[in-house]
Amino acid sequence: MKFNTRLLHGKSIEEYPYGSTVPPIAQTSAFSYESSEALEKVFSNRAPGFSYTRIGNPTVAALERRINELEGGIGAVAASSGMSAVTLALLNVLGQGDEIIAGSGLFGGTLDLLDNLTSFGIRTRFAAHVDIAHVEPLIRENTKVIFAEIIGNPALDVVDIREMASFLHERGILFIVDATTATPYLVKPFELGADIIVHSASKYINGNGSAIAGIIVDSGKFKWDISRYPKLAPFKRMGPYAYLASLRNGIWRNMGGCLSPMNAYLCVTGLETLGLRMERECSNALRLAQALDAREDISVNYPLLPESPYRDLAEAQFGGRGGAILTLRTGSRDRALKFMDRLALGVKATNIGDIRTLVIHPASTIYIHSDKEAREAAGVYEDTIRVSLGIENVEDLIQDFSDALDCV
Ligand SMILES: *Cc1c(COP(=O)(O)O)cnc(C)c1O
Repeated sequence: MKFNTRLLHGKSIEEYPYGSTVPPIAQTSAFSYESSEALEKVFSNRAPGFSYTRIGNPTVAALERRINELEGGIGAVAASSGMSAVTLALLNVLGQGDEIIAGSGLFGGTLDLLDNLTSFGIRTRFAAHVDIAHVEPLIRENTKVIFAEIIGNPALDVVDIREMASFLHERGILFIVDATTATPYLVKPFELGADIIVHSASKYINGNGSAIAGIIVDSGKFKWDISRYPKLAPFKRMGPYAYLASLRNGIWRNMGGCLSPMNAYLCVTGLETLGLRMERECSNALRLAQALDAREDISVNYPLLPESPYRDLAEAQFGGRGGAILTLRTGSRDRALKFMDRLALGVKATNIGDIRTLVIHPASTIYIHSDKEAREAAGVYEDTIRVSLGIENVEDLIQDFSDALDCV
């Protein structure tokens, strides 16, 4: 099955009850059983079933199975938000004294989180870009995770997953990728060797800006050396399922970052149109990038533009598509803000992956907690605007953006 067909007819859909075509919303906290023995079996993982929605819920499980099927993993765990997914994916294996290497062009919330983790004794070293040349000098004995956004939001740098994965596996280091901006439509990170995928499902998976959600997917292929990842020791006998078993029975369950059934439903139904939306949003991004790139009064960053250093990699790794985000530099902060206020169609809101085109000035919003150096390493300057393309007719967008630029 090809991508759009699988979104509607994939194997994981056959599991919906009553023949329903979308999963019913199991809006309940607890699940009752006829005997205490039956409940005990479910509680101790000796029988399948649900006991309490923080630990598992049929609607949430439907989303987990759908995303896992699309990514080709061995299992997935949904979380209350993308940030919750990133946090739990890391804390599942990291402890005091461990180190992370991450790209400096990360999403602002993740940069803030990595700063928070220093108070738990987990240090992050930042690479200007996640490639061998930048990562190798930062590796230490206690480097346990490399964390990268496949397409940095908003730096829009592209990571060569295959090259990084084989380099890291020779060294026994776990490779976690945040695939939020790429989505399974652009790339299947597990086919290229990534070990763990996290998504902010609030973005392209939900697709219309109606719910906050996150998800963690495991490829099942990482060779766990328990002496290097001692947190997984209690789950060693689970073999390739050790990471997921540890999440479900440990940090994820205990931190309580579960997804609500209603939000799982909104994501599972939104997901069905991911392919169509991405096709349109990526083509809108390219067309708008090309139109604005032809102007003298603005500079455009988009991975498929001829001047992007990531053009060849994006072409090859994403099958000729470049994602649905671009950034603009207008020359000054004042011009950036005036330009945004002139737009009739770009909605000023801090989100990406909506069906509406959204614009934001990252320096005064998402990166408000970062200093100038960290901001600029993430590609955020005083005059930068981030545009997340929606599904509008591109002629209208080009007209609107051009008119607004002419005015300022
Ligand atoms: C939005 C985003 C997150 C955080 O997700 P939330 O659902 O907002 O918590 C993480 N990573 C990336 C790349 C994002 O764009």
